[in-house]
Amino acid sequence: MDNKRVVIVGAGLTGLGAAWELSENGIPPIVIERMPRVGGMAGSIERDGYIFDLGIHGLFPSQKGNEAIVDRMRSLLGDELIPVKKRTAIFFNERYVNYPLRFNDMFRALDWDQMIRCFLDFSKTRIRRRLGHKMDEESFEGWIKSHFGGALYNIYFGPYAKKVWGVSCSRLSSSQLLRRVTTVSLWDIAKKATRRLVGLSTEGKSEYSQQPQIFYYGQRGAKVMAEKIKDVVERNGGTFLLAHDVERINLTPDNRVASVSVRDGSGAEKIIECDYLISTMSLPRLVRSFNPLLPRETLAASNELRYRAILFINLMLARPRVYEAQWVYYSDGKTLFNRINEYPNLGSPHFAPEGKTSLSIEVTCFEGDDGWNRPPEELVKQCVSDLQELDLIREEEIEGYFVTKLPNVYPLFELDTERHLARTMESLSRIGNCSTIGRQGRFMYMNMDEALLEGITECARVRNALESAH
Ligand SMILES: Cc1cc2nc3c(=O)[nH]c(=O)nc-3n(C[C@H](O)[C@H](O)[C@H](O)COP(=O)(O)OP(=O)(O)OC[C@H]3O[C@@H](n4cnc5c(N)ncnc54)[C@H](O)[C@@H]3O)c2cc1C
Repeated sequence: MDNKRVVIVGAGLTGLGAAWELSENGIPPIVIERMPRVGGMAGSIERDGYIFDLGIHGLFPSQKGNEAIVDRMRSLLGDELIPVKKRTAIFFNERYVNYPLRFNDMFRALDWDQMIRCFLDFSKTRIRRRLGHKMDEESFEGWIKSHFGGALYNIYFGPYAKKVWGVSCSRLSSSQLLRRVTTVSLWDIAKKATRRLVGLSTEGKSEYSQQPQIFYYGQRGAKVMAEKIKDVVERNGGTFLLAHDVERINLTPDNRVASVSVRDGSGAEKIIECDYLISTMSLPRLVRSFNPLLPRETLAASNELRYRAILFINLMLARPRVYEAQWVYYSDGKTLFNRINEYPNLGSPHFAPEGKTSLSIEVTCFEGDDGWNRPPEELVKQCVSDLQELDLIREEEIEGYFVTKLPNVYPLFELDTERHLARTMESLSRIGNCSTIGRQGRFMYMNMDEALLEGITECARVRNALESAH
């Protein structure tokens, strides 16, 4: 194994998990990252005494069995990781209520007439289901309406999903979307509320209540996790090429990866040979990178895979806290944003200078669309006007701002996406010494614990592949 070269594209947590495990097993890899920093989505940006992450990034075991990876990170980071009690809220129906919604909150948030409409609609759909009426369950809109009725869809799910996903909910596939916590928790509450109204038991664990209310956070931002792993990999002999963009993946005539062509910050091209390639970059980008090109059908299928992007409008504010919560959802269609994070509420003094605070406002869009290309000043102007309208901040409190753009954040599951995904993956599986993993690479929602584990688990597959090629 000594002279085998493994190249990893991407220094997000998946790539780092793989690099960590490989380097501990005598295969120090070369990690190529196009950004000048490690961490990918779980990175941080420091400006003028403030630390901004790319959205709140709390580490917790998101699946049963993932406790070990959280413990491993905690022992690696020691005091750098602090336990944080989760405090979130939702601005729903013009009111702030705790999130996840409790039964009483649901009553506080809905007007009586809305509650009655939701109840009647829910009862109607239950009866129709009981009578065996066939209902559309394939689309997100159809699924919600056929389980909870149109009223709840119109009040919450419809406007929120349209804002987050940017496409009509009748085109969104229900299968993957229902995994999203924001949907599940409200769904669970709606179910409880309506069950209580019809006199049924509300006992039983909700999906949401299984999520821990404590998570771990880097005192100096999410990036500390990535930076610490990078240190270990380097100590074990691994190499990082930051600010290097992988442009081409060169294949041999028998369909194996021979090398990757990368461009560094100065524009110079380098060729890096490899025995095995692990990619964590976006699937369409990976498919387009092969030289020679993959079959036309594979390119066409992968081009249908779209991700939503996020713009973070980061405000530095000369005032103490805005919220009590660490993050707040905005579910209606009235505001541009769908979530606001206040990092200083995580309990570490490092996120903002004393007596000051910051907001990181999330706006979703597609990479390259009008929203993505909007000048930062315009985005700030609109968000600040929305925030003033909500009576949250005053313009004169803003000390500074900047906008961060993050592409390929949420895999978008439209009705035929799973078919295109299967075709793309099948074609890639024919390349013997290459794997595509991680949130972008598998086109799959993943939390940080899952991303780390995905990378770590990949090590065994790489070892087997290298041994059998020996
Ligand atoms: C707003 C937001 C909030 C989140 N909150 C949480 C949370 O609270 N808890 C939690 O557990 N998870 C959270 N997550 C999920 C978590 O961030 C991800 O699961 C995890 O970071 C994914 O890691 P990854 O390595 O798979 O992908 P990425 O972090 O996207 O890494 C891929 C890397 O590949 C690089 N790359 C792409 N193309 C190239 C190329 N051509 N050449 C070289 N490099 C390239 C990219 O620059 C990137 O660094 C959140 C995600 C978001 C977006």
